[in-house]
Amino acid sequence: MPGLEDLYREIILDHYRNPRNRGELEVPPAHRVEGFNPLCGDEIVVYLDVDAEGVVEDIRIGGQGCSISQSSASMMSAAVKGKTIDEVHELTKAFKAMMSIHESSLEGDDAEPEEFPDINLGDLEALRGVVRFPVRIKCATLSWNTLAQGLDEAASAAS
Ligand code: ZN
Repeated sequence: MPGLEDLYREIILDHYRNPRNRGELEVPPAHRVEGFNPLCGDEIVVYLDVDAEGVVEDIRIGGQGCSISQSSASMMSAAVKGKTIDEVHELTKAFKAMMSIHESSLEGDDAEPEEFPDINLGDLEALRGVVRFPVRIKCATLSWNTLAQGLDEAASAAS
């Protein structure tokens, strides 16, 4: 059995206790999107400022919930700030791949992780252990799904 100490690694707790980019942005020009995970009661609010070149100029996070959801949102905000929308999509893909590695092999043995995009996930690597707690995966991906919604809004506003 995997231990809780794996799940709540120090880096996760650091982001939970000292969340990065916490706050709000003026709407408009920023976009505001909300995400909710009813399984756990997690709420995430993402404020997103995308400039004319498609760069995430600024991002702020609001909401409340468990340590996994809030630390994932904090790490996400730090990881995407200053990146282009395309880069953010790549990062999202890599993160979600990491979060779904064990989904297909849960009933079975300890299968080797599948291949996933070779992108440096930085602090987000700390969330890797969450895949062994399937019920918590939605906590970790909530902020990313909310971000994707915000990017869609920003893109359609720009076109
Ligand atoms: Zn949660």
